[in-house]
Amino acid sequence: MSVDVKSLTREELAAQFQQWGQPAYRVDQLLHWLYERRAASWDAMSNLPKQLREQLNQAYTLTTLQVARKQGSRDTTQKFLWRLGDGSLIESVLIPANPALYGEASDRHTLCVSTQVGCAYGCRFCASGLEGWKRNLGVEEIVDQILAVERDAFGGASSVEPQPADRLVNNLVIMGMGEPLANYDNLLKALKILNAPWGGGIGARKITISTSGLAPQIRKLAEEPLQFRLAISLHGATDAVRQQIMPVNRKYPLRELTAACEYYEEKKGRMITFEYILIAGVNDGLEQVPPLASLAKRLHAKVNLIPYNKVEGLPWERPSEEIQERFLAGLEGLGIAATLRREKGHDIDAACGQLRLRTERELASA
Ligand code: SAH
Ligand code: SF4
Repeated sequence: MSVDVKSLTREELAAQFQQWGQPAYRVDQLLHWLYERRAASWDAMSNLPKQLREQLNQAYTLTTLQVARKQGSRDTTQKFLWRLGDGSLIESVLIPANPALYGEASDRHTLCVSTQVGCAYGCRFCASGLEGWKRNLGVEEIVDQILAVERDAFGGASSVEPQPADRLVNNLVIMGMGEPLANYDNLLKALKILNAPWGGGIGARKITISTSGLAPQIRKLAEEPLQFRLAISLHGATDAVRQQIMPVNRKYPLRELTAACEYYEEKKGRMITFEYILIAGVNDGLEQVPPLASLAKRLHAKVNLIPYNKVEGLPWERPSEEIQERFLAGLEGLGIAATLRREKGHDIDAACGQLRLRTERELASA
């Protein structure tokens, strides 16, 4: 199996070009085509000599994601379902900025990125975990989610015109399908490429990694040089509640998880965010507010409350707005910085894994 060109760093490509006796500036030309012009074929790279293009074609694949399905419109939340080389389906969600949420300016677009096909962690409320884990995404499959969304926005992959060099996506949340920290090496390499000035040019502070709480990998992430933001999918402030809905809590109970979070904050000098889905009758009672507030206080964490998105076939429900607001007020009353996502994209299956699940069910019954 050959290596994909979008899984390689500038240094790795430069070493190969040197071996081929190619001048160094050719590497920058190639990178320009890949990451600024989002080229979908070697032939599009018109200023590279034909012989070099052939050499590249022999040595590497140039994978681009294919749109299997798309929902939403340019100025609202847009959801992309991609078909991969092996027929697997994954999703990305493009979200126009919500300045309150991750602190970005209002001309920004956030892309929610997938890291695996399916997920092995089996959180009871989540569509991605329903059919289990299939495989990790390759580096290039993570990287191209950004480029493919932009290719689509700027006129489609089939366009022969070079694409504008603007970056449409300037904020990433690694919150799509899969557990990012379970595909650690590919994720980190992809983020390095997306962050690099020769690659995606997206600041590390504009990249939020969300995890269901893999404590050892959180500690490992703390040692990385790049300053990513970290979000913890908490969803329960006590072990009793959390392990009811998240099996991972048996492996890494709250004590271990919060210790890893403290370590991350110490090492990075950065605060984390708690994600807390509100699920009716499970974790939305007012008695959950004090333990959640005390965890948040101890870790100086901000809390993002997210009303649960109904998943077909699962019994869980979103609480009423009144209960959502009551929970938020309770946290604020205890001095916690909290937001309630009055959610975008609810109507287009925007929560993780939902469009894929629906499409696979439709395909299965067709
Ligand atoms: N595996 C990682 C990242 C992907 S899930 C994680 O769990 O953090 C991204 C977020 O979507 C998580 O906070 C997850 O709990 C949440 N989520 C999953 N299903 C959801 C649903 N039906 N409604 C709302 N949020 C959901
Ligand atoms: Fe996996 Fe995250 Fe879904 Fe849990 S919430 S099953 S970890 S994708």
